[in-house]
Amino acid sequence: MSAEIIDGRAAARTLKEAVAFDVARLKAGGTGIGLATVVVGEEYSSAAYVRRLTRLATELDIPHRPCVLPADASQTEVIDLVRELNGDPAISGILVLRPLPAHVDEAAVFRALDPRKDIEAVHPENAGLLALGVPRFVPSTAASVFHLLDTWLDSTGQNRADFYHRSLIVVVGRSNNVGKPAISLGYERQASVQSVDEWADRSTGLGRHTRWADVLIVAAGKAGLIKAEHVSDNAVVIDVGINAQTGEDGQVHMVGDVDYASVAPRARAITPVPGGVGPVTDVWLVRNTVLAARLLSGMTPDEATASLTDPSTLTASPAHISLQEAS
Ligand code: NAD
Repeated sequence: MSAEIIDGRAAARTLKEAVAFDVARLKAGGTGIGLATVVVGEEYSSAAYVRRLTRLATELDIPHRPCVLPADASQTEVIDLVRELNGDPAISGILVLRPLPAHVDEAAVFRALDPRKDIEAVHPENAGLLALGVPRFVPSTAASVFHLLDTWLDSTGQNRADFYHRSLIVVVGRSNNVGKPAISLGYERQASVQSVDEWADRSTGLGRHTRWADVLIVAAGKAGLIKAEHVSDNAVVIDVGINAQTGEDGQVHMVGDVDYASVAPRARAITPVPGGVGPVTDVWLVRNTVLAARLLSGMTPDEATASLTDPSTLTASPAHISLQEAS
């Protein structure tokens, strides 16, 4: 048996068409939209992410303001910048990139965000709404994981609810930005959910838990952590990890947390790295910026979410949706 490969790039292309449609509708209706990113210092991964977002925002015709502060910027300076963006009517979504330098209290910066512009749901109000199952924004990485699962289920003809109700989802890694939101989204779909962290790895080992998973979501940031022995036959494996590794050729490659070569032959379906969760995450963040623009225009969260184009309503080849039609 060999796993089906869940193609994140194809899913991202379809999602991008849906977002392009929504951006055009927004502009035609006279609602402004703008994305701001805040980077403090010269973190390599943050700079790479901002470059990808700049490209995407240009393609989707969304103004993007990349704000960069020096690594020694004080906490007050970071918070002042966030407050300035909160008050700027040209900006609808704000992303503060992690990690922040050690001398800056991340929680204090997140608390300073206007919750209606907090597109990664890091403000306690948005994190709380997500945990309560009534999210205003769904953080982009966890959203991407479940978007890939949902669209893969649709492609197999399985009923989403039936699948989730029967499934045990095991989430490896419990960070506030990826693991915990993924746990909340599993609950939201009424699945059984288990969370394992490095302490399980150090004590009993991960396999004791992960081998029971129907769906295994791995977000630990440890290259090749999950091997064939950790996975049951027929599991669906979603690899969130992105780790830089120098190959035998001396080149740096991006690899996931899952040892793809050994796990793929066992799994029912699997996401590759690169080309799995990552591309969808980027587009979802922009989708959240559209959502923020709608919230700021006075819509309720329910109205704003309902007004977004559902990418599953687009055909497999969504090129038929032109921006002209959208407006
Ligand atoms: P993080 O470091 O904040 O959290 C990692 C979590 O994994 C922690 O809860 C930690 O305790 C746990 N962990 C560490 N070692 C473990 C082990 N041996 N066994 C079990 N759990 C272990 O990282 P994060 O921000 O949650 O990101 C996780 C990974 O996902 C990273 O590789 C990151 O680059 C990647 N990531 C990918 C995307 C994407 O779009 N694909 C987005 C965000 C993060």
